[in-house]
Amino acid sequence: MTTQIKYTKLFINNEFVEGVNKKYFATINPATGKTIVDIAEGEKEDIELAVEAAREAFRRKSEWRQLSASQRGQLINKLADLINENKEELATLESLDNGKPFQNSLAGDIPFAVSVLKYFGGLADKVHGQTLPADGEVFSLTKKEPVGVVGQIIPWNYPLAMLAWKWGPALAAGCTLVLKPAEQTPLTALFAAALSKQAGFPKGVINVIPGYGPTAGAALALHQHVDKIAFTGSTEVGKKILSYSAQSNMKNVSLELGGKSPLVIFDDADVNEAAQIAHDALFSNQGQNCCAGSRTFVQAKIYDEFVKKATELAKSRKVGDPFNETTQQGPQADQPSIDKIVDLINSGMNEGAKLQTGGKRIGDVGYFVEPTVFSDVKDNMRIAKEEIFGPVQSILKFETMEEVIERANNTDYGLAAGVITKDINRALEFAQAVRAGTVWVNTYNMVLPQTPFGGYKSSGMGRELGPDALEEYLETKTITIMFHQELS
Ligand code: NAD
Repeated sequence: MTTQIKYTKLFINNEFVEGVNKKYFATINPATGKTIVDIAEGEKEDIELAVEAAREAFRRKSEWRQLSASQRGQLINKLADLINENKEELATLESLDNGKPFQNSLAGDIPFAVSVLKYFGGLADKVHGQTLPADGEVFSLTKKEPVGVVGQIIPWNYPLAMLAWKWGPALAAGCTLVLKPAEQTPLTALFAAALSKQAGFPKGVINVIPGYGPTAGAALALHQHVDKIAFTGSTEVGKKILSYSAQSNMKNVSLELGGKSPLVIFDDADVNEAAQIAHDALFSNQGQNCCAGSRTFVQAKIYDEFVKKATELAKSRKVGDPFNETTQQGPQADQPSIDKIVDLINSGMNEGAKLQTGGKRIGDVGYFVEPTVFSDVKDNMRIAKEEIFGPVQSILKFETMEEVIERANNTDYGLAAGVITKDINRALEFAQAVRAGTVWVNTYNMVLPQTPFGGYKSSGMGRELGPDALEEYLETKTITIMFHQELS
């Protein structure tokens, strides 16, 4: 696949510029392992410039600050429309850079980013405070204000969708922002930056600095003049982000981190349907999904039949070139991902799980892995505890509701969970007992613009999407007015 890459530089103050240190890094096509293009590398000095631009754009009486909330909403909607108009090109860039099947980018990631931006565009002028019956001869009200300059750091698994999750609420709230895309996947973020200028966002409102985590990312999270940092990625780096906040200016922090989400299948379920839901829950996006159903708990009576179906589904999964129309699974993101996945597969075999299918890397060109299914997985095995972030399904057997609730909750994570049953009482009992930010009943991975998404425990803090996401980008100001009149 050849496509012209139009944007390769840092985006500051509505202009594409070289980095201060004139450095470049390669972004790699994971289907071939070859360089797509060299990208300007942002470092601490560039973060300084971008934050300065964002602060200037946030200044009192700036062009951005003088826009009404509905005008901000219109700009967000315009950006969404432009993304939609350029969806073929964006989907091509996304699949080239990330490796996900082109059809998934075109029908999934790009339209989802559009709908998320539209949702927040619509919310922009529906943000409001309260009037409060406060004690004394006073009149008290609250006002919602933008938190200020926001730093945003995103991962490589859903590059444009993650950008939309971050930009939508930040811009709707009236913040200005500096985004650092993942070093593996900067292409669609730079294209979106160009579209934001075309949409009419004033200069400095949106800035994009590609670069590495420990340099550009850390400089953003440690910056004294960044008022909030929003991060999506691993729990390990999430912990660093919290400490960067503490070390610098106590900036607000929201974190979307890893997971080891349980999907529980009761024995009254239709086994074919359940196997398909569980397959999609794990294998979609090459298994690189923070809320992947990566612990598949199946009740004893249907366990053997379920394992058979799950194995058949994995065996029939088509792995290959992301630009081939029949491909269901493309390459993993990069070499470190492959190394981690192969290590965890080997641990599964060594610890006594039963390999039903897959188990190996495919060839040595690009980063492909066989769709893999393990049965007889036990709770203490690494494949049941650690996030694999790859196409590896772990199937565990259970007997009772009490047992499965306890086992499902026996993890440091709490991002998502699923339950499949025809019995609404069972579904609700599990949904209430499981400690996770999202619970799906008879479905999975239904992440929607309107519904909050985020983690309990080590899966994060704060919520994205839905009305809750806006709160992450707002401060509440109380105004209390002396009111010397008898209240009637
Ligand atoms: P990662 O944490 O290594 O990287 C994520 C981002 O953080 C990248 O932009 C990276 O450059 C940056 N980064 C790395 N070190 C940094 C540092 N010291 N300071 C500041 N920024 C730094 O994660 P990854 O391997 O790219 O992504 C996979 C992980 O992300 C998985 O664990 C997955 O569960 C998680 N994830 C979570 C969600 C969610 O919504 N909860 C979504 C996607 C991915």
